[in-house]
Amino acid sequence: MNNLRSSGIDFIGSISWGTHIGQLYTDIDEYYETMIPFIKAGLSDNEMCTWIYSNKTCYQEVREKLKTGITDIDTYIAGGQLLIKSYAEWYFKNGQFDADITSKNWSRHLSLALSQGFDGLRVVGDSSWIDIADFDEINIYEEGISKNISELPFIAAWLYDARMLSTYEIAGVFKNHTFTIIRHKDGYKLMSNTGLQVRDHIKERSMEMYRHLVQLLPVSVIIHDDTRIHMCNQSAVALTGLKSTHELLGKRLLDLVPPANRSKARKYWRNALHGSAGSSYLQSEILSNRGEKKPVRIMTIPYGFDGSNLLLSVIMDHTPFVKINDLIDDVERHKQHQNLSLEYNRLKTEFFTNISHELRTPLNVILSVIQLLKLQSERLNTWDIESKYIDMMKQNCYRLIRLVNNLLDITRIDSNYFHLDLRNYDIIKLVRGITNSVAEYGKQRGLCIHFSSNSASRVMACDPDQIERVLLNLLSNAIKYTPSGGSIWVDVYAGDKAVEIRVKDTGIGIPKDKQEYIFDRFMQVSSSAMTREKEGSGIGLSLVKALVEMHNGTFSLSSEPGAGSEFVIKLPVRLIDFEEPCRIKSFPEFNHAERVIVEFSDIYS
Ligand code: ADP
Repeated sequence: MNNLRSSGIDFIGSISWGTHIGQLYTDIDEYYETMIPFIKAGLSDNEMCTWIYSNKTCYQEVREKLKTGITDIDTYIAGGQLLIKSYAEWYFKNGQFDADITSKNWSRHLSLALSQGFDGLRVVGDSSWIDIADFDEINIYEEGISKNISELPFIAAWLYDARMLSTYEIAGVFKNHTFTIIRHKDGYKLMSNTGLQVRDHIKERSMEMYRHLVQLLPVSVIIHDDTRIHMCNQSAVALTGLKSTHELLGKRLLDLVPPANRSKARKYWRNALHGSAGSSYLQSEILSNRGEKKPVRIMTIPYGFDGSNLLLSVIMDHTPFVKINDLIDDVERHKQHQNLSLEYNRLKTEFFTNISHELRTPLNVILSVIQLLKLQSERLNTWDIESKYIDMMKQNCYRLIRLVNNLLDITRIDSNYFHLDLRNYDIIKLVRGITNSVAEYGKQRGLCIHFSSNSASRVMACDPDQIERVLLNLLSNAIKYTPSGGSIWVDVYAGDKAVEIRVKDTGIGIPKDKQEYIFDRFMQVSSSAMTREKEGSGIGLSLVKALVEMHNGTFSLSSEPGAGSEFVIKLPVRLIDFEEPCRIKSFPEFNHAERVIVEFSDIYS
């Protein structure tokens, strides 16, 4: 609704709702001159207009005067848009002015105007019936009018006979009206009450800001009653999937609620209208124009709007919260799964550790007995089983021991139970020693194993036993996967900051697409006939990688299928101040030669 109204009076121009005009006249014709166009503008602007005449005139006279400017006056009177009333009928109770009765009359009259579809109320009241002795009381009442109508679709003009008033009372007229019309020489003059004008300006500005704010709010704001929506913001339009405010205005909010939620919504809004909904909210759904249901949370408060008791509902789209709740449920479910799998992992580790120990004990016993039997049979020459069968049994015991050993360590590493025994040790001497100790194995399989280094020695912190395992693993693989006649090189390059150990062979190589998985647990390149002849568990390289990384080193591979493989270990050079006492080894019962046998047990000689 347009907030600016036409006053119909040239020297006044547009006025806003809530304007309270005063006119001081000395001749009745002065006010007809200003008030006839004033009423005419209200009538043509869809306002209900009321003229209250005093005892100085009568219904007929007012009607005739008005007719001079408003030719179709009878139509307005017959249609109920123009009322001409006597002062006594309006202001009096028991023959006396009564401010209460008067206020009630105005609010009833305004409700009637709005309910009949008029934009608001425009009033002219002639005050010359007032007994001058009562003027103070009237002044107080008028002051109240200025305050009360400022928030309503109400415009009022009061006419004062200046000849009746003292200067003090005239000052009261100026004070109580937004502006006062006076006759000045040949024309009219407008005396503005700057205080009230500033107040109106501020009110207009804050209304404007409030309207912008409501429009910009990310939540939907709807002012409504149970018959229609009176005002809404853009978020409300977006929520309902419509394009413009006009499409939503006039609709019934209840119709946007799915039928199943309607009785709950009706009850909630009924309570809200009587202020008994408190701070509670309504959990419901809103139907979009495409028939989709959106979960929403609605908070409603009673709200005076354009003179009516309406409801202001703030509607929050609850879809994101529903999604968040779904996500929270998902996270909770995943957490439960994760806890289950952590628990499962812990049980698995425990099982592996236990089973490895269980396997190792009988194995050691079997191995010892076999060794004893062999010794005894050789000494007494009484053993009639062929020695090659005893060797087969021994060989397979070693293979099982290697498997158990690797399984045990990999589970220990996974569960952080594995610790290095770091010492300051000559790594070049260590690698050279290991390489030389397996040269004989290579020779037996027609392979040549070479060692080279850029330096004679380099002392650095490492766990010699674990470096030995790393190298034995790589060398046993190199021997395993290099056909007879090939070569294996072990090269150590000692730099200032790092030592690089390369184990290179001229073997079958590793397919490119398998190279990224080669360090994964239990990974063998192929279980096909081509490689099945080579025995192994697929644990070796993952253990090597884990042991190198525990030394803060890196482990990498380059290989060409058919042309050989090269494994590169890069270890940082550092020294430790304090060597901890040796921990108990995984296999304390084996010396270096036996450890080689165990690590090489996959290779049939
Ligand atoms: P395995 O005990 O089965 O040898 P590893 O983890 O030591 O397990 O090796 C995994 C796979 O990598 C082997 O099955 C083999 O196919 C491939 N591999 C390892 N070293 C070499 C090598 N020097 N040459 C060719 N293939 C190799």
